Amino acid sequence: MASVTLEKLWKKYGDVEAVCEISLDIADGEFMSFLGPSGCGKSSTMRMIAGLEEITSGNIYFDGELVNKVRPRDRNVAMAFETYALYPTLNVYENLAFPLRAAKWSNADVDKRVREIAGILEITDLLDRMPAHLSGGQQQSVGLARALTRAPRVFLMDEPISHLDTRQRGRMRAYLKRLHIELGYTMIYVTHDQEEAMALADRVAVMDLGLIRQVGTPDEIFHNPVDTFVAGFVGEPPMNFLECEHSQEEGRHVLRHNGITIEMPPHSEALAQRGAIPQRMILGIRPFYIDIGLEKSARHTIPAEVFVVEPLGDMTVVSVDVIETRLQIVAEPDFRAQPMQTLWLAFDPARTLLFDAETGGALTNQA
Ligand code: ADP
Ligand code: MG
Repeated sequence: MASVTLEKLWKKYGDVEAVCEISLDIADGEFMSFLGPSGCGKSSTMRMIAGLEEITSGNIYFDGELVNKVRPRDRNVAMAFETYALYPTLNVYENLAFPLRAAKWSNADVDKRVREIAGILEITDLLDRMPAHLSGGQQQSVGLARALTRAPRVFLMDEPISHLDTRQRGRMRAYLKRLHIELGYTMIYVTHDQEEAMALADRVAVMDLGLIRQVGTPDEIFHNPVDTFVAGFVGEPPMNFLECEHSQEEGRHVLRHNGITIEMPPHSEALAQRGAIPQRMILGIRPFYIDIGLEKSARHTIPAEVFVVEPLGDMTVVSVDVIETRLQIVAEPDFRAQPMQTLWLAFDPARTLLFDAETGGALTNQA
């Protein structure tokens, strides 16, 4: 296994700047996910690490050794993509053995390794089967096993399960995570699916427009996003944003949104002390941290009109309009209301985040 270092990495296709000066240290044995919307440069970065795409400028190191000029097959990376083409004329055992035989392993070593990997992937009873006699899911497991037989220095996966149905994807996700724990490989996993990235990775690099916006553990990314892009990309339903102005009422700093007063988060006190509160801010609050009251009360002070109510079983998602801003709220499973009904909301100030309206940058960190 190896650590991977990306240093000021650029990828340009003609005028298209696909990757713009990415720098990142991935530790030996770490599970790193690249997360971002389609077209943000994830695959280009991955392909440069694999050696399949020329580097426009910058450097890539494995364990501190520069690999820019090392040919793909000499980098000893394993790659898994959405589709795994198995050799149709070889049974599962020989499919797994193929990369090892090509590397001139002895028969005894091949046998030991094939059985070890098959055991981990729970496909031992498929070893004698031909690929044509496997289900789609089994083929995928065998393909994954084959990519893993030669312990690679780095294991690269580019949206490897994005076309499975939701159930299969959930199973495969747990399985990949366990695989990483058991094998301890350095893994780099590309996905546009925030849930997948959060569930799997030790750390997530959130990308947008060829740039890394933030690198952090799933908790850091979720609780302390550096800007409105990261805040809005991670979490489902997504974080709500409300444009606010800074104001003072009876000597207190507050937020005002179209005549509605909203408390400042307690963790913004440092801002006030530094006199660094901008005039225009964006308040961010996750759907889970909005409390609904049926009547106005000392706590429920923000009026909202119901747009629709979605009863999802495990929870109810309520869409409401606060004047002209649509918010989503995660409510109790049995919560019901009618469209156009007036509700009164309470935001938990300790759970709100503040962003600069000009730059989108986070102004405060939650404790
Ligand atoms: P992602 O994997 O995040 O969807 P890609 O790395 O595939 O993003 O693409 C990043 C950008 O580079 C996109 O704008 C895409 O259209 C462009 N791009 C990717 N590959 C090529 C190519 N071979 N030629 C020209 N443009 C490309
Ligand atoms: Mg891609």
